[in-house]
Amino acid sequence: SNIVAIVGRPNVGKSTLFNRLTESRKAIVDDMSGVTRDRHYGMAEWINKPFTVVDTGGYVANSDDVFESAINEQVLIAIEEASVILFMVDVNTGITDLDDSIAAILRRSRKPVFVVANKVDNNSQRNDASVFYGFGLGELHLISSMTGSGTGELLDEVVTHFVEIPEEENALPKYAIVGRPNVGKSSLINALIGSERNIVTPVAGTTRDSIHIHYNQFGHEFMLIDTAGLRKKTKVKENIEFYSVMRTIKALEEADVIILMIDALEGLESQDINIFHLAEKNKKGVMIVVNKWDLIEKDHKTTKEFEVKIREKLAPFVDVPVVFTSVIEKQRIFKTLDVAKHVYTNKMKKIPTSKLNEIMLPIIENNPPPSLKGKFVKIKFITQINGASPMFAFFCNLPQYVKESYKRFIENKLRENFDFAGVPIQIYFRQK
Ligand code: GDP
Repeated sequence: SNIVAIVGRPNVGKSTLFNRLTESRKAIVDDMSGVTRDRHYGMAEWINKPFTVVDTGGYVANSDDVFESAINEQVLIAIEEASVILFMVDVNTGITDLDDSIAAILRRSRKPVFVVANKVDNNSQRNDASVFYGFGLGELHLISSMTGSGTGELLDEVVTHFVEIPEEENALPKYAIVGRPNVGKSSLINALIGSERNIVTPVAGTTRDSIHIHYNQFGHEFMLIDTAGLRKKTKVKENIEFYSVMRTIKALEEADVIILMIDALEGLESQDINIFHLAEKNKKGVMIVVNKWDLIEKDHKTTKEFEVKIREKLAPFVDVPVVFTSVIEKQRIFKTLDVAKHVYTNKMKKIPTSKLNEIMLPIIENNPPPSLKGKFVKIKFITQINGASPMFAFFCNLPQYVKESYKRFIENKLRENFDFAGVPIQIYFRQK
């Protein structure tokens, strides 16, 4: 849930640092590239603390006249969204005008800012770096993002500024409504909380990253992570995207259930599918809301056909609830909450070991894994492993002989017999 933003003018080495920080969780970085135009978002981790790194550099338009204002605007967005800001400068060039103008914006922020002097490889450069104290921004860190020297010490310091979600909030289900602009996210949130939105004071920019709304009405109690509420006014197209991607990432990290909203007239597009796969990879619960259903000409088959089309695009993870809403006509708004709660319950579900074995062992006996080179896999015992989402261990003699196709078969049988709608399942085969 914590975001570390790297800001700075071009060529100071932001992307080198970005790559270094995100190395360990690269698989997820690659997926993120589908959500955004460039690879400038990534997952990182330091001493068991996961965080998201944003390299603000990729979003600057190339023409000279928007150059400085675009950079400045990105710094503002970063300040609003990030938990910690790394202001990167180049020890070899000293302070430039653009550095100064970024520093001026950062001085007005209440977020922790670290001045990171990059390309520091020797002692004389160490001395040169003291010029950056002139920014009046407090702590200075000397690093070489190329060799990695200094980055460990920097991260030790950075993670101490991370914001934790208070315990009492953490116990409640957390939902996030995500989706492309104009699908109706704000309208749904307004329909749910109405004028109360103005009463819930956002604490963004002070102690908390995103806006958590505590909803407690009509038998539903949850935290809503508001990704749509604040909308930055900006004329730079890249920054609109930057802003919305940043919000989506935050929601993905914080929520238990992702409510992915699409526009009925547009259907499920590639960006939606990317967000869906990210939710799956992050082991979040997920449901699809097809909004503006009032705008569709319907007969008795329309809903079914629409659902089939969506599932085709979600494959192979198709066991996902789909709800058709019209927020404008207040159709199925509470159904959406019921389904989100259901997905949350599924995510938390623990199947007793006795029940699991009673149901699954006979199925396995009737459909054992196919033998491989004359060897037979014998599954003896199944148990659910404790975790934030459903995980199952199948104990057997030859785990390495179990193929992907058999895992899929097992997953389908688990889904058929125990409801796991909307929740990714992990299956492990282990030696007894
Ligand atoms: P957001 O960007 O996802 O937060 O989308 P908004 O909530 O701002 O909605 C975008 C536009 O779609 C607004 O003009 C809404 O009035 C409209 N809208 C939202 N929900 C519906 C719906 O169910 N049906 C129709 N016809 N329009 C809707």
